[in-house]
Amino acid sequence: MQPVTKLPKVGTTIFTTMSTLAAKHSAVNLGQGFPDFDVPPLLVDALSRAMRDGQNQYAMMSGAPALRLAIAHKTDACYGVRPNPDTEITVTSGASEAILNAVLAVVRAGEEVIVLDPCYDCYEPAIDMAGAIAVHVPLDAKTFAPDWTRVREAITPNTRLLMINSPHNPSGAMLTADDMREVADIVVSHNLYLLSDEVYEHIVFDGARHESALLYPELRDRTFVISSFGKTYHCTGWKVGYCVAPPALTLEFRKVHQYNTFCTFHPAQIAFAEMIEKDPAHYQSLGDFYQEKRDAFRQQLSETKLKALPVPGGYFQLVDYSDISDLDDMAFSEWLTIEKGVTGIPLSPFYATPPKGQRLLRLCFAKNPETVAEAMARLKTL
Ligand code: PMP
Repeated sequence: MQPVTKLPKVGTTIFTTMSTLAAKHSAVNLGQGFPDFDVPPLLVDALSRAMRDGQNQYAMMSGAPALRLAIAHKTDACYGVRPNPDTEITVTSGASEAILNAVLAVVRAGEEVIVLDPCYDCYEPAIDMAGAIAVHVPLDAKTFAPDWTRVREAITPNTRLLMINSPHNPSGAMLTADDMREVADIVVSHNLYLLSDEVYEHIVFDGARHESALLYPELRDRTFVISSFGKTYHCTGWKVGYCVAPPALTLEFRKVHQYNTFCTFHPAQIAFAEMIEKDPAHYQSLGDFYQEKRDAFRQQLSETKLKALPVPGGYFQLVDYSDISDLDDMAFSEWLTIEKGVTGIPLSPFYATPPKGQRLLRLCFAKNPETVAEAMARLKTL
């Protein structure tokens, strides 16, 4: 039987491709966005205790009650909004599952979803799986700020959902309060749903405020706010995230979640509940923790020929390599891996139509000082 692909545009992700190449050439991997330092010991202890205590069977479909309660407290502490744990919070297998659930829950086949390019790579396949159409609106190629006039121009009677992401992967750019007022005006006046991907919500620098969609009351009844414990607690491999949405949207979201994964790794849920309640300082100080790493990384980069773009949030540093090479970003990242032993991620796979002549790579600075020092020693030879 001839295999028929329903997702012809989907291949191996750029993260897997670059990580495989990095391993083959023993390169320092600053590509895929994962921390290489330890998970907080309190969290590891809580996880092993949960398993020893026998919390090893299915969790409730919506999430372990203790974790949903802890998320409600944390959301209140951060944004002054306390979602109802029973009707407005759902625990998922990472933010990736939550993004897919939200899109499948509200977008019908043939409808349009606006994404802002460059965007995280799971957005478009989720839209494709809904049988819907991704409409790509580019961010500014240098500042990664949205152009709301272009977003308005892209809206048609068929538009159902707008997807935003702040702090932004891959650029680290953050939406401002003015941006959020534009978002509110757009989604309310056109009666759209909003998906706000806030997985880097606690990794913000220089005293800036993370403009969560939860801070905007006019957005509440139409928004899925999605976050991930992988980013906040240095454990991307545990794949636990969550979605905060009003009751009517949560009901639809859970219909998909129930038949997608049903529930998420139960012992980790118990452990996160304990961690959030016992050590709020962890997420409160995460910005400072990463700011130190960002500053050390940029200081060392300044001794190379790579030009560092500003990093307001997240754990990625964009570098401009136009002073070194005229290769396109795919070719340059391969060359850098093979010839110099350092791996970054090219930006073009994050676009439907990459900007012409863009010479940027994404480097992850969520790394131990030794990893960074080794990468920098190699980059200095450029
Ligand atoms: N959104 C963005 C912007 C991300 O960077 C990531 C992870 N790299 C995700 C969603 C997915 O998060 P998770 O690993 O929790 O599925």
